[in-house]
Amino acid sequence: MSTPRLVPLSPTTWAWTHDSTAWGYSNCGLVASDGEALLMDTQFTLGLTRELLAAVAGAVPDATVTTVVNSHQNGDHTWGNELVPGAQVITSEASAAHLCQEMSPAVLSALSSGEPSTAVTAYAVEHFGAFDFGGITVTPPTRTFTGSLDLTVGRTAVRLLDLGAGHSAGDVALHVPEDGVVFTGDALFHGGHMIVWSGSLSSCVTACDTLLATGATTFVPGHGPLADRAHLTAFRDELARILDTATAHARAGTELAEAARLVKKEYAGGKAHPERLFTAVAAAYQEAGVAGVPSTTFELVEGMAQLAGA
Ligand SMILES: [Zn+2]
Repeated sequence: MSTPRLVPLSPTTWAWTHDSTAWGYSNCGLVASDGEALLMDTQFTLGLTRELLAAVAGAVPDATVTTVVNSHQNGDHTWGNELVPGAQVITSEASAAHLCQEMSPAVLSALSSGEPSTAVTAYAVEHFGAFDFGGITVTPPTRTFTGSLDLTVGRTAVRLLDLGAGHSAGDVALHVPEDGVVFTGDALFHGGHMIVWSGSLSSCVTACDTLLATGATTFVPGHGPLADRAHLTAFRDELARILDTATAHARAGTELAEAARLVKKEYAGGKAHPERLFTAVAAAYQEAGVAGVPSTTFELVEGMAQLAGA
């Protein structure tokens, strides 16, 4: 359970945050100026998205949401898109191309409400069982870009940054230069460990460098409380160290599950979901050229479920 709230960052920019490190409670962004509004991401369920939209209507009653930006195609950032009819939905070309490989609401619903008879179903029931995925029609992007895309929302200039593959097959951040704010999507987590669905941990490090290069001072992560430059820098440096450690295990011929256990022991720290380190180690193994590394969503969830109990 979490109680999300709309946090003003400037007269025209807000963060919608759950301050939660639990799976699925993603943060969103709002930029509103001169009757126009842009939403960075929607929520995991229709109920959570309705809550978000009610808060937006309360904060900026005269503005119409004309643009939704999707930071990537995971359901916790996109499954409320249909509740903003008429808005253009923008994401990067790489992100849009990956939509067909995402787990559908029906599949996730079945997985998280079934008998917890395997490690995967038990993990899904524990972390996703509380969400109601009923009624969702996955609503794809209507506009894509590569590199960067400059837009204006009323009189406020914003820039979308194509971060490439890292957390997902295509990640997008939203920079609001006049406020020194970046909505990072899941290129940044605060309070929880990184998940690497894309098979490239080095790209996750590069994405952090791109975020830092904006010069912004406030970073709204995909999950968890708001972050500053010091947090983003520490997050980046830890990912780089994990990459080095996991690559050394790969070169030494350590079996993946054992390497993940060792990396978890070394890097779990106080952050939530240390089992996600399985995905970081698997990505490092993939980049090191190890054959047969798990790469599908299901296989990665299976690896996390096993590491959670290791
Ligand atoms: Zn997310």
